[in-house]
Amino acid sequence: MEQYSAFHGKLDRGGAHTRKLKIVCEECNNTWMSRIQNESKDAILKIHRGQWDSITAGDRHNLATWATMFAMVVDFIQPDIVAIPQSERTKFYKLTKPSDKGIVWIAPYSARDLAPEYDQIAIGVLDRSQRPPVLSEPIAQIVTVVMGGIIIHVCHTTAFPLWVRLNRDYSPHLNMLQIWPNFEGPSFRPEFTFKEGSVLELTKLTQTFVCGGQQFPF
Ligand SMILES: [Zn+2]
Repeated sequence: MEQYSAFHGKLDRGGAHTRKLKIVCEECNNTWMSRIQNESKDAILKIHRGQWDSITAGDRHNLATWATMFAMVVDFIQPDIVAIPQSERTKFYKLTKPSDKGIVWIAPYSARDLAPEYDQIAIGVLDRSQRPPVLSEPIAQIVTVVMGGIIIHVCHTTAFPLWVRLNRDYSPHLNMLQIWPNFEGPSFRPEFTFKEGSVLELTKLTQTFVCGGQQFPF
């Protein structure tokens, strides 16, 4: 099995709006990206009001699409450590649907502030046969974002075996509702409500599953 390690310094937390990051151009932001944002509003408001049972397959799809867009935008906060390849962004621009290399989960969150707060980390493959060990280009990204009573967790990876492990071995233990892939499953309110501080904890939890707790010492 391949050994993975997280990049230090990729962590970026706080309530920065994607708009303030100035990563995307004005035109994209005002057209197709704002359309995705608008289409996710129904789902976000339903969850904000606690109406988990009324979340439809369409809501789940729209929310997973928004989460994918968010993950792709914040991936550029550090342009030298970008985990989602250009081919995936091009595909997303053309199809505006979640990536088949992504997984998206949601759960209730205790704080009610509608301004998003997020955390993210990039992961590479660690080659220990080299002295000193060498970390590859990023092959996975973990993003956690909270807003208005909802916590959204997104993993994107070009390493298919890792994607399979996350889906099969990790997802069932996460106490969250997986909305991508299989966005057509039943919607329910996960029993566990994430508390303030969970943004960092959840990101760390997934990082530990992927990397076995180790970080590459830069
Ligand atoms: Zn643009």
